Amino acid sequence: MKKTVKAALLLQSFPEIPKADLLECQRLAPHFMLYRSDLSSARCGACGKTLTDYDYDDFLFVLEHKKDIVCPECGRKVTAVCDKYRYSVEVERYAQNFVIFQAGENGTCYAHCVRIQVNLHKEIGEPAQEVARYEETQRYAFADGQCYRFGRDRVNQLIPIYPGSGSFYARTGLSDWKYRTRMTEPTWDQPGMGYFHDKTYTILDDAKPLKGTCLQYAEIDKLDQIPMFDYIKFYMKHPNIEYIIKLGYTDMVRHWFAGYCAGVPG
Ligand SMILES: [Zn+2]
Repeated sequence: MKKTVKAALLLQSFPEIPKADLLECQRLAPHFMLYRSDLSSARCGACGKTLTDYDYDDFLFVLEHKKDIVCPECGRKVTAVCDKYRYSVEVERYAQNFVIFQAGENGTCYAHCVRIQVNLHKEIGEPAQEVARYEETQRYAFADGQCYRFGRDRVNQLIPIYPGSGSFYARTGLSDWKYRTRMTEPTWDQPGMGYFHDKTYTILDDAKPLKGTCLQYAEIDKLDQIPMFDYIKFYMKHPNIEYIIKLGYTDMVRHWFAGYCAGVPG
């Protein structure tokens, strides 16, 4: 079967991201601790608990705007933010990238690349809220010894100014998923999501969903500082690399992928 034909088939049957996985990514993403300027209460975005001065007087007293603090309820590091500010201007938004693997039929493995963005939203007179958005920025499929990458193009959409209007405004949107012939590391930026320099990613569940797929023995959880998708591309052609990693020569493989000669410390 031609690769483009297979790519079209894979795209047709590409599964959606499981809701539980998406919620888990949102939970793992960076969060804020919103506190009232009179220090009467604070709400942790990571665990959703409201801490009142009745129980947490000492804790609330040391809160400082834009400073990181550990939530006494869930133990997560969160950024304290005072609710007297206008958030869109004064507070940085946070984003974190995730890769979610999914097992398909006949050893096929799918991967979703998701960027979670957390920002603060406040309407006049309303309490501030943490709002998490997500965007699936890239898709991969691995089947029959081949790698497939899918992305979406930026397209200008013409939106009527009001329903039925003959006048339009242009908005940058995304096309349907398309097969990309080059197998590369994922791209993470999408229109409307803002620009974040961080291109690192977290693999959800330590690649446990790979069981039963063609990547079951790829030792992906041992790839410290090795670009994962470059590595998978190599692995699909040369699965023996599994043994090099299993023997503990990850340093050698790391130098190899970083463009150094194998075995030479860099
Ligand atoms: Zn918490």
